[in-house]
Amino acid sequence: MKTEIIKINREQFEEEELEAAAKCLREGKLVAFPTETVYGLGGNAFDATASARIYEAKGRPSDNPLIVHIAEIKALEELAVDVPDAAYHLADAFWPGPLTMILKKSPRVPKTTTGGLDTVAVRMPSDPIAAALIRCSGVYVAAPSANKSGRPSTTKAEHVIEDLDGRVDVIIDGGAATIGLESTIVDLTGEVPLILRPGYITAEQLAEVLGEVRFDEAVLKKSPSENVVARAPGMKYRHYAPKAPLYIVEGRNEEVIRYINAEAVKNAAEGRITGILATEETKKCYTGGMVFCVGERANAESIAAGLFDTLRSFDETGVSVIYSESFADNPLGTAIMNRLLKAAGYHIIRLKKDEEK
Ligand code: AMP
Ligand code: MG
Repeated sequence: MKTEIIKINREQFEEEELEAAAKCLREGKLVAFPTETVYGLGGNAFDATASARIYEAKGRPSDNPLIVHIAEIKALEELAVDVPDAAYHLADAFWPGPLTMILKKSPRVPKTTTGGLDTVAVRMPSDPIAAALIRCSGVYVAAPSANKSGRPSTTKAEHVIEDLDGRVDVIIDGGAATIGLESTIVDLTGEVPLILRPGYITAEQLAEVLGEVRFDEAVLKKSPSENVVARAPGMKYRHYAPKAPLYIVEGRNEEVIRYINAEAVKNAAEGRITGILATEETKKCYTGGMVFCVGERANAESIAAGLFDTLRSFDETGVSVIYSESFADNPLGTAIMNRLLKAAGYHIIRLKKDEEK
């Protein structure tokens, strides 16, 4: 399949520029497009064949449901039944934006789109290109992240081309995604709202609107041996992994740097290159290895925005092992560490504090 790449300037474009891509969606074809979270791989959510093509293009397991993207609030009534008031309150507060709600699905949504579930995930993106594309297409757009299953999500069109060129009909290049982490997912189908995936919208922000909100147990797990089954089917799969094994090093800043520098020396002696995921503040402290800067610690959002891009960067370098600093104390730490822990297969090296030695 020949993939058409359409460049759009997010700051200034006419809807006509999206018409060819919108037509593809109406015809059951696949269009990758930017959103404010990550790039999405879109198809008509009411067309089971289009959804099946999404799973195939990504190599995604068919029990891992797709998020349906909408441009207007009234779409909720067509996609879901028994929509609780809480959904409208959340929509008021956070839509358009990086929040996905799980609701009881309407019979019109094919089970292929929902991975066989009786619930449906819905989000209204704020990115102007995403919003215009959905509006222009006149369909609801099922769109998981536009990466090959298992790889880090895509935050730039170059990443999408790397993973999906020749496998989808159109890729819209709208520049870098601003947030860089996938949406927060909140399940509104139970007694108490449950966060199934942490994201840019935090638990505290949700609690302000909902009162009580809890984390699904699987979200907080710190090791693969904890035997809890994720309610968001996608969260049980290995994800985001760079090619080389990745270790998160936790401890005081100086200790982390000392440890990673020592490992880099050892590895170099064995002819192996060490990849290091560092920050603006620390990158100069590393004396060996191949250092990539993810963002600025002082700017929480820059770390989120740079994470997937940096994880992907290591793949072209031939590093045999990667060490990453930890971001647990970042204001977006819950969301960032959720992705980083998965990328690392839950491998954490915890350094003892000097006084504990
Ligand atoms: P992605 O679009 O690649 O960010 O993945 C979508 C995420 O949403 C996956 O982790 C899915 O398991 C989750 N998801 C989608 N629909 C549902 C649903 N109906 N119930 C629970 N989780 C869902
Ligand atoms: Mg994904």
